[in-house]
Amino acid sequence: MEIRNLTRSYDGRRVVDDVSLSILPGQVTCLLGPSGCGKSTTLRIIAGVEMQDSGEIWVDGKLVCDTVFRVPPERRGIGLMFQDFALFPHLSVADNVGFGLKGSREQKRARAEELLRKVDLLRHIDAFPHELSGGEQQRVALARALAPEPAIMLMDEPFSGLDNRLRDGIRDETLRLLKDENTAVLLVTHEPEEAMRMADEIALMRRGRIVQQGAPYNVYTRPADRAAVSFFSDVN
Ligand code: ATP
Ligand code: MG
Repeated sequence: MEIRNLTRSYDGRRVVDDVSLSILPGQVTCLLGPSGCGKSTTLRIIAGVEMQDSGEIWVDGKLVCDTVFRVPPERRGIGLMFQDFALFPHLSVADNVGFGLKGSREQKRARAEELLRKVDLLRHIDAFPHELSGGEQQRVALARALAPEPAIMLMDEPFSGLDNRLRDGIRDETLRLLKDENTAVLLVTHEPEEAMRMADEIALMRRGRIVQQGAPYNVYTRPADRAAVSFFSDVN
């Protein structure tokens, strides 16, 4: 996926300012930056639930969205996983995972089984969300997001609702699964430690702009400026 020169203003203030990014299959790109710098707005534009003022989004060499032309969100081949990943409470785990899929009931069930096996939750396939722990619900949400085989997965602070004890394990499991499916991932976080742990590529964002981009080690050891240094000093 390629994002070219995205810009978005609210009330005359540019919250996304000329953002360009390339996201490759099988790679995790982290959009990292402090609260309010425009990360979620960027993701919402890519997802198609919000319009940019200017700029283009390309997926697989095809234009998906500019200021005139717009493929609707559900036809972009993009999966979403946000912090409030709420499962449908009245649907079983199997039906949650199969919800957006086309095909017969049996086909949906088979795909749900395949993914639930990968997140080690097959034994809970007929359970309801309230019977699962927070971490298990998170893994069901991941299975649901991956079920339609999105080429691209957008994740906005997907682990922030989890307690520390669970978080590392789920991060690792999520990574493994995304790599397994060869998904291109854009992961938003304001935690340097999470970006260092998960990213193949970090795009550091500040006041709507990408101020630095590169491999985690390079961004960490050669911060572009003093603000980047102090931002990264949180990592320990
Ligand atoms: P956080 O880490 O806290 O989630 P963020 O980087 O995701 O922050 P955004 O949610 O993209 O930040 O918001 C960027 C700026 O745009 C903020 O100043 C926010 O107040 C403003 N903003 C976001 N959405 C709207 C909106 N619908 N109307 C007006 N201002 C908005
Ligand atoms: Mg946000």
